[in-house]
Amino acid sequence: MNWETILIVGGGIGGLTAAIAMRRQGFAVDIIERDPDWSVYGVGITQQMNVIRAMNDIGVLDDYLTMATGYDSTTIFVGPEGIEKTKFETPKLAGPNYPSNAGIRRPHLQKVLGDKALSLGTNVRLGLTVTALNDDGAGVDVTFSDGSSARYGAVVGADGVFSQMRETLFPDAPQPRYTGQWVWRYNLPRPADLDGMKVFAGPCNAGLVPMTDELMYIFLVTEEPDGMFLEQEGSAAAMRARASKMPPPQLIPWIAQIKDDSEVVARPLKVVYLQDQDWHKGRVVLLGDAVHTTTPHLAQGAGIAIEDALVLAQEMACSDAPEIAFKAYRDRRLERVDHITLNSIRIGEAQMGIGEPADIETLNAQTIQLMSQPI
Ligand SMILES: Cc1cc2nc3c(=O)[nH]c(=O)nc-3n(C[C@H](O)[C@H](O)[C@H](O)COP(=O)(O)OP(=O)(O)OC[C@H]3O[C@@H](n4cnc5c(N)ncnc54)[C@H](O)[C@@H]3O)c2cc1C
Repeated sequence: MNWETILIVGGGIGGLTAAIAMRRQGFAVDIIERDPDWSVYGVGITQQMNVIRAMNDIGVLDDYLTMATGYDSTTIFVGPEGIEKTKFETPKLAGPNYPSNAGIRRPHLQKVLGDKALSLGTNVRLGLTVTALNDDGAGVDVTFSDGSSARYGAVVGADGVFSQMRETLFPDAPQPRYTGQWVWRYNLPRPADLDGMKVFAGPCNAGLVPMTDELMYIFLVTEEPDGMFLEQEGSAAAMRARASKMPPPQLIPWIAQIKDDSEVVARPLKVVYLQDQDWHKGRVVLLGDAVHTTTPHLAQGAGIAIEDALVLAQEMACSDAPEIAFKAYRDRRLERVDHITLNSIRIGEAQMGIGEPADIETLNAQTIQLMSQPI
C-alpha cells in the first residue's frame, strides 16, 4: 500500500481544503470530523489575497464569492482620534476580474468547502475521532471511536489547536499557551461606504470588516487575565465596556449597537507552533492550526492552513515516498509560516507592552509582499 486512500482527521478549513486538493490530484479521501453537527460559529473571517488565489486554484472561487464580499484595500487608523495612517491597495492574485481580499461568514466558508469536497467524492464521517493508530511503515491502521477500523496510505492531522493527532505523534510537543489577549467579534449592519477593511491600531485595537452586502463584523482585541470565564449573559455589555476605552470616533456609533448577548463571540487567543521539528512522523502528517496556531493579528491563520493543504497535496502527488513528500511540504511552508506565526504573536505582545515594539504598517506591508508570492 502506498497512497491509495488518505484519512484526514478534522473537517475544518484546512482539512476540507486538503480533501479538495487531494481529490483533484486523484487521491481517495476519507474525512472524520468530531462534531456530529459539523457546526461553525456565525461570525466572519478575513481572507486575504493568497486565500482568494487558493480558492481559485481549487475551483471554488465563483461559489465562494456568491457568499462573500470582496474588497481591495486595508486602511490603518491610529490613535484615539482615529487618524488615517496608511491605505494598502492589495494585489488581485486571482486575476483582474476578482477582488483582492474578502470577508465571509465562517459557516458560508465551511459550506463552500464542504460542498466541493463532497461533490468530488470525499467520504465524510461525522461524530468520529481516532482511538488507535498503528503505522507499520507500509500503511496506517486506524481504529475509530465507533469501533470501526480501516487502513490508509497516510493520515493527515487537521484537527486544530487542541490537536489529538499532534498529541499522539509528539506527546512532548509544547501545549497551546494563552497569549494574554481575547478577541471579541460582533456582526453589525454594513454601511454603504465600507468598501474595505479598516484597522484601528491602538489604543482601542479594533477593526471593521465587510462580510456580506448587508453585514460587516467588528473585532476588538483586549488584554485579559489568564483563566477568565465569560458568561454569554452580559457579554454585550462586557464587549461595549472594553470597546469604550478610548475608541476612535469612527467606532463609537457601532459600539453602541453591540446589544445582543447571543451575538457576541469572544475567544481567548492560544498559540502553539512546532517550529524546530518535523511536522510528520512516518505516514502521519500535521497541517494548519494542529502544527502552527497563531493569533489573528495578521488575519492569516486560516490562510496558512489553506496554503498548507495545497502544498501538501502537490508534494504527495509528486512522490511515492511519504517521508520525502512530507519533508518537502514542511520545507516549502517554513518561511511563510514563520513570518505569519511569529509576527502575529509579536504584534499582540507589543499591544500588551511585552517584547519588542512591532511596526504594524511595516509588518502588514511585508505580509502582503510575502503572501503574494507563489506558494
Ligand atoms: C478569534 C480568532 C479570529 C480569527 N480570525 C481569522 C481571520 O480573520 N483570518 C484568518 O485567516 N484566520 C483567522 N483565525 C484563525 C483561523 O480560525 C484558524 O487558523 C483556522 O480555523 C485553522 O484551520 P484548521 O482547519 O487548521 O483548524 P480548525 O478550523 O479549528 O478545524 C479543526 C477541525 O477539526 C475538528 N476536530 C478537532 N479535534 C478532532 C478530533 N480529535 N477528531 C476529529 N475531528 C476533530 C474540529 O471540530 C474542527 O472541525 C482566527 C482565529 C481566532 C481564534
